[in-house]
Amino acid sequence: MRAPGLGALGGRAGYAAVALAVVAAVTAGLLWWKPWADDAPKPLAFTTATGGSARFGTAEKLYHYKVRAENGLKVSPEEFAAEVDKVLGDTRRGWAAGGGWAFQRVAADPVDFTVYLATPESTDRICGQYGLDTGGWVNCAANRQVVINLKRWTELSEFYVGQSEEYHALAVNHEVGHILGQGHVECPGPGAPAPVMMQQIKGLHGCVPNGRPYGQDGALLTGPLLPPAATAP
Ligand SMILES: [Zn+2]
Repeated sequence: MRAPGLGALGGRAGYAAVALAVVAAVTAGLLWWKPWADDAPKPLAFTTATGGSARFGTAEKLYHYKVRAENGLKVSPEEFAAEVDKVLGDTRRGWAAGGGWAFQRVAADPVDFTVYLATPESTDRICGQYGLDTGGWVNCAANRQVVINLKRWTELSEFYVGQSEEYHALAVNHEVGHILGQGHVECPGPGAPAPVMMQQIKGLHGCVPNGRPYGQDGALLTGPLLPPAATAP
């Protein structure tokens, strides 16, 4: 039994309380619930670096490329693009030095290949689509896409401690080398510069660290070709 007045007030307050609780519950639910949770993986989100570069190299075969960085990284797309440009723009010892390929960065399609900077998880997802197992720690190239693993980009490899510029050159040159049709090679001999198409992350086998396709003298730094089975990634 309750007084009618109090009952009416209590009813309104009660409705308000219930309404608030419902709003709170729905809000909490929305914060917790994500459309991609559990069954669908989170969509990959990348931003393309703005602007473009000069044409690197004089070769007739010109590769246009764009550079994209995953959203939310400390490295901006433009910062990453500046480093990629420096590597591909090396007309003395980079791929553009050989006379077979020229490069130019653009900000929009059409492009011949795209260079991504991605978290280890995203790298695995992108590369996994093409059957490449990057295991959360290596880069890959597939289907006109170069995927640079953020972990490698920031932590480098054990052979390049303190040499981020050389390691970044190696990472970009190795994967772009695949885009250019280059397969894996072995160390040609003790003390020789490690060819960029060696899987250097797995060991230098007597070679010394090197991230450039061509030597100081302009000669291609290469070694015995490995069978295609050993090519991925
Ligand atoms: Zn490779």
